[in-house]
Amino acid sequence: MNWITNYVRPRINSIFSRREVPENLWSKCDDCGTMLFHREISDNLNVCTNCGHHMHITPRDRFLALFDGGVFNELAVPEPLADPLHFRDQKRYPDRMKAAQKASHEKEAMLVAAGEIGRTPIVAAAQDFSFMGGSMGMYVGNAIIAAAQEAVKLGRPLVLFSAAGGARMQEGILSLMQMPRTTVAVQMLKEAGLPYIVVLTHPTTGGVTASYAMLGDVQIAEPNALICFAGPRVIEQTIREKLPEGFQRAEYLLEHGMLDRVTDRRKMREELIVITRMLMGMSPATWGDLPPPGPEDLKPEPNAALDDTAK
Ligand SMILES: [Zn+2]
Repeated sequence: MNWITNYVRPRINSIFSRREVPENLWSKCDDCGTMLFHREISDNLNVCTNCGHHMHITPRDRFLALFDGGVFNELAVPEPLADPLHFRDQKRYPDRMKAAQKASHEKEAMLVAAGEIGRTPIVAAAQDFSFMGGSMGMYVGNAIIAAAQEAVKLGRPLVLFSAAGGARMQEGILSLMQMPRTTVAVQMLKEAGLPYIVVLTHPTTGGVTASYAMLGDVQIAEPNALICFAGPRVIEQTIREKLPEGFQRAEYLLEHGMLDRVTDRRKMREELIVITRMLMGMSPATWGDLPPPGPEDLKPEPNAALDDTAK
């Protein structure tokens, strides 16, 4: 807690850690342990080519694969107050934010965009689990409200991809207030008669499951996604009983009536096109209007679309 530890040491560390990290060409599937070439994984939407395990995918990569030709307009999200509680654990909250922004090349834990899927105009929002556990703070609340308002303004369905460890503790009660705020945003869509489709991805937990992630007209999940309010470990410790196999996983929840569909990520785009067109009373999609994005379109371009989308 002095000048040397707080100021000098981080400076020295940052000078010595400035080397560029070499691009890792191989990664290991978390489930079956197969070594996979990075190009092979990204071409397959981060689904293991050996066992079908769904690995993490960033919102930007997801949108590049989702929208026709990989083209979408990123929506501006109103900036909330930064660090309202001056929260500090081992690190200051602003420092944690900076580290997350640097690692993800994204501003916050949610990306909102408008575009077309199979020539069907939609608004989409996707949460980024790699950004501070996809935690729901004021920015995420603002992002969902901005997405819902844009959907109502344009008369389009809203498709939301959830992934979260819950509320952002660094924002305390203000993060919990996003639960009613986002619920009101979903209600706006319902009053406008517009579909709200939720795609639950691994993991969706805590306050997010207790609000906007469970309010969809259609609830879809990716295979084997953990979807819960309190996690299995907490429940096991509380009730002191072994939980059944696959408890709180997508397939288990589908069997028990909590979900409508469990869909492979590689088929998600087609399924969303069918569902959104059906719910909007449109004719079935004409296949082959636009080719699906090729692998060369899947390169992430961090923040490239930030500027040209403010409407
Ligand atoms: Zn695998």
